[in-house]
Amino acid sequence: MIIDTHCHLNDKRFEKDLDQVIERAFDAGVKGMIIPGADPAELPKAIEIAEEYENIYFAVGVHPYDREDFDLTYLEKHITHPKCIAVGECGLDYFRLPEDPKEKEAEKAAQKEIFRQQIDLAKRYKKPLIIHIRDASKDSLDTLLEEDASKVGGVLHCYNASPLLLELNKHGFYYGIGGVVTFKNAKKLVEILPEIPLEKLLIETDAPYLTPHPHRGERNEPFYTTLVADKMSEILDIERSELEDIVLANTRRLFKTFF
Ligand SMILES: [Zn+2]
Repeated sequence: MIIDTHCHLNDKRFEKDLDQVIERAFDAGVKGMIIPGADPAELPKAIEIAEEYENIYFAVGVHPYDREDFDLTYLEKHITHPKCIAVGECGLDYFRLPEDPKEKEAEKAAQKEIFRQQIDLAKRYKKPLIIHIRDASKDSLDTLLEEDASKVGGVLHCYNASPLLLELNKHGFYYGIGGVVTFKNAKKLVEILPEIPLEKLLIETDAPYLTPHPHRGERNEPFYTTLVADKMSEILDIERSELEDIVLANTRRLFKTFF
C-alpha cells in the first residue's frame, strides 16, 4: 500500500476526470493521498476533495511562487479542520530570482519571511511541514534550524538532492521521493538515495508535475507512484512490498495519521 504524500488533486488539470484519477490510484494500491497547499485560491477545492474521500487529506500553506497571496489568518482558519494534517508546501525557491541584485535580495527576504511564519504556524498547531526547496539548500537548512522546525519535523521535496540537505535527517525530517528518481539525468538523487535512512523515506508524485519516466511530458497522477516505488526498490535492492511497508510506517509516523 502506497500513500502519495504530495499531489495537487485540486489542480485545474484534474477538474474533468478526478474521480477516475483517484479510482485508478486506489485500484493500483495507492490507498491514500495528501493535497499540499500552494495557491490559497485553490484551498477550498482541496478541502472539498478531502471531505469527499476518506483517505485523502490536505495541508494549509503557501508556495513561494504564490507568496503575494499569503494570508496567515486564512491558513489559520482552516488548520483546525479534521482533515488538515500538515502545513505547506512552504519553503524557498531561488530558481527564478530577479536579475537586479537589490530586487533579488528583496525577493529572498520576502520568501524567508513567509516561510518563517508558516514554520511558526506549524509549531503552534503541532503539524509537520511539507517543505519546497529549489536551488536554496543552504538558506532553507539555516531557516529550518534557526526556527527550530525540528520540533514538528516535516518532509522535503527532493528537487536538488544535496548532501547538505541530508543533514536534516538528524533533525526529524523526511525525504519525499518522486518521479525525478526515474529520470535518466537524475544521477545525484540516485546516488544520494541509499544514504537516506530507510525510515526517513516517503513517496510522492507532485502531480500534475514531474511525471516519471516513461511518461515524462504527460500529466502526472498518483497512480504513477507505483513507478517511483519500483525504481526505489531497484536502487535500494529491497522487495517492493517491504519498501511499501517501511514507507507506510514512515508516513503514519510523520503525519500522525492512520491511513
Ligand atoms: Zn508541489
